[in-house]
Amino acid sequence: MNSKLQHDLNNFENILEKTKQQGIDFLNNIENIPTSNTYSIDPKTVLNELGLGSIEALKEFNERLAPLMVSSSGPRYWGFVTGGSTPASIVGDWLASVYDQNTQSVTSQGGNSALIEFETINLLLQLLELPDSFLGGFVTGATMSNFTSLAVARQWFGKQSGKDFAKNGISEPINILTATPHSSSVKCLSLLGIGSQNYTVVKTIEGNREALDIGDLEEKIKALNGKPFILISSAGTVNTADFDDFEAIAALKEKYNFWWHIDGAFGGFAAVSEKYKHYVKGWDGADSITIDCHKWLNVPYESAFYLIKKDHINLQIETFQNSNAPYLGNPLENFNYLNVLPENSRRLRALPAWFSLKAYGKEGFRDIIEDSTALALHFGNALIENDFELLAPIRLNNVCFTLKGEHNQEKVSQFLSALNDTGKVFMTPTVYQNKKGIRASFVNWRTTEDDVKLVIEEMREVLSEL
Ligand SMILES: *Cc1c(COP(=O)(O)O)cnc(C)c1O
Repeated sequence: MNSKLQHDLNNFENILEKTKQQGIDFLNNIENIPTSNTYSIDPKTVLNELGLGSIEALKEFNERLAPLMVSSSGPRYWGFVTGGSTPASIVGDWLASVYDQNTQSVTSQGGNSALIEFETINLLLQLLELPDSFLGGFVTGATMSNFTSLAVARQWFGKQSGKDFAKNGISEPINILTATPHSSSVKCLSLLGIGSQNYTVVKTIEGNREALDIGDLEEKIKALNGKPFILISSAGTVNTADFDDFEAIAALKEKYNFWWHIDGAFGGFAAVSEKYKHYVKGWDGADSITIDCHKWLNVPYESAFYLIKKDHINLQIETFQNSNAPYLGNPLENFNYLNVLPENSRRLRALPAWFSLKAYGKEGFRDIIEDSTALALHFGNALIENDFELLAPIRLNNVCFTLKGEHNQEKVSQFLSALNDTGKVFMTPTVYQNKKGIRASFVNWRTTEDDVKLVIEEMREVLSEL
């Protein structure tokens, strides 16, 4: 064994102890760590002939790289839709590295840790009150979950005219209908060879809405003259957290032949609260659903899952199986994740979610969801009382707003970059209904009313200096 490795092996306990202490120092201080910084490095360090060993590497990391770290898992990182990591999720994440399983099979002699993934999906179905007619698996993020779901949808579309697109490639245009797709779904259309421009836009409901207009959807369906199509619908659009009407879509599914996908990356968690579950009523009728865990479930990146109806397992295997040989036996008995999703080798990605669900239960997540939505409303009210205006109603956890008055439109970017430069809070720019806006998304379990207060004070100060 190489001498540096041997030394590390002998010194393992000390190395992990130091790492643990560093983690505690960072996490205990996360509220004081800036949400952005201007520190930079020249990313061209030389690779030494002789290694440093872990302790020296840790020293170099702390000197040169650690200053790059911002508090993206802290309470005031409101940009994108960024979750944090709860204690239990970190336990799961660490142990996933420690055990380093090759999570593929539920029956193999080489390990059947995929059973943990089955169990975690089962817990998530209970949390979201979805039936076990769905089969799920973990992927890196909602982008890959949308990709996995839409890849199976693509195979389904070919089968409607007796074609096997997975084997023979796409030989005819695929009909896609959608109103307000997330940019990642559009990227998936590009990756899947469907084409990022090749979808039909369904109108949104009149007024301040991003949800699809059911009447217009039905007209667009009729214009297809009975041809099959794929519907990409939304449970929570990023700007205004709007939801399509799933009961109405379910009723259309009785009349027309289509694959129904729901992107519920963060909005799917509305199902956890009595107050918000009406938003997702009827979503169990979908063929596939995307949910992110590294957003509202507050587990570390990279964690998301797809849910696809078990009835479609053969289409899923046709899409992702590793050999051209026909799949032998009952696919649900001989189950192996490498035949149903993009990756072959995977880490035990379910473990952070498993620990979180066990540690905090239904109530823990209900509290996170309801605290986040209460804070969004609280922030919205404070904005109105100051010199801001809401661009859309606050339906859930996202607040889309701008500076008050048309004449201030040109100052929005300057305001936001000055605000983000304070390092006290981070928000993302957006454009909504042709207006320059700002989006704040509440998903982090640590955020409190004090954070909202502090941010409002910063905003007033930045505004006064503009
Ligand atoms: C965040 C998000 C995505 C993309 O998710 P990643 O985890 O970043 O890949 C897709 N859809 C919606 C609605 C989202 O909010």
